[in-house]
Amino acid sequence: MYDIIIVGAGPAGLTAALYALRANKKVLVLEAKTYGGQIINAHKIDNYPGMKGVSGFELATNLYNQVKELGVEYRTEEVIGIEEDKTVVTQKNKYNAKAIILATGAENRKLGLENEHKYIGRGVSYCATCDGNFYKGKTVAVAGGGNTALEDAIYLANIAEKVYLIHRRDEFRGEAKYVDELKTKENVEFVLNSNVIKINGDSKIESLEVQDKEGKIRTIETNALFIAIGQEPRNEIFKNLINIDRYGYIESEDGVHTNQQGIYVAGDARVKTLRQLVTAMSDGAIAADTAIKEEE
Ligand code: NAP
Repeated sequence: MYDIIIVGAGPAGLTAALYALRANKKVLVLEAKTYGGQIINAHKIDNYPGMKGVSGFELATNLYNQVKELGVEYRTEEVIGIEEDKTVVTQKNKYNAKAIILATGAENRKLGLENEHKYIGRGVSYCATCDGNFYKGKTVAVAGGGNTALEDAIYLANIAEKVYLIHRRDEFRGEAKYVDELKTKENVEFVLNSNVIKINGDSKIESLEVQDKEGKIRTIETNALFIAIGQEPRNEIFKNLINIDRYGYIESEDGVHTNQQGIYVAGDARVKTLRQLVTAMSDGAIAADTAIKEEE
């Protein structure tokens, strides 16, 4: 029996673990992939207060090491469901806790192209920091118009010979300062009001077909397509017990409690207006503190 089981080892989950461990609680963190969540892919974070320019990897690794030093029990196991008596079920085991914190975050959204999956590792990537270096001196494309796509394009412009930034509207969702920086880069071409509709190539990407608003199709020769079109939550597995909105986010009236007593939510997995590192960590701290006080 654990005091608190935390599902997900992104910034929200690890911060919840930090607060619970510092209160001497017995804590289990379950994570299907690697620690760090989405932030692990951020090259440079400029809006985390007091740590301008820190890399996502560095920040997440420091946080992970911090909770390891405090004696967290950390298991790489995929959670497949929770039961009413606060049993957390993974593909390998079942665990019980006095309280559960759901910090499942969100995962990269797919473009949904017919052969997108086939080209993963053969040109399609969802992580410019991880795969950008494979395309030194080559041509790459980035799809998306948020901060991630803009940052990816800036990062790739310093590695690749040419970067196409393909966005479905003529205005970017991401911050103007990134757009301004991109405008100064001679090897970056904006392809606006356009969607990628097809990937061509035998074993690797050779070109993309891109369609504009008028329906005109253009072929762009490229070695890679970095897809940065946002995230989707993964909370389907909890829907037997937990209220989830139509987009898949966990509902919470006060941002910490779910509809089930003893089950809390933190970070990007919940309905909220500002999905940022600082708000995810804040959620984690509040969820742990609330769980500690209520389950004592
Ligand atoms: P995002 O802000 O949700 O932007 C997603 C982008 O992808 C939007 O431009 C959207 O177009 C486009 N898109 C969505 N679905 C699409 C589809 N099916 N086909 C084509 N385009 C599609 O996601 P994000 O850029 O990953 O950022 C997520 C959050 O993290 C944001 O709050 C962001 O500010 C934050 N973030 C911060 C930093 C930083 O501060 N350094 C870095 C990265 C991310 P529309 O605009 O037309 O909807």
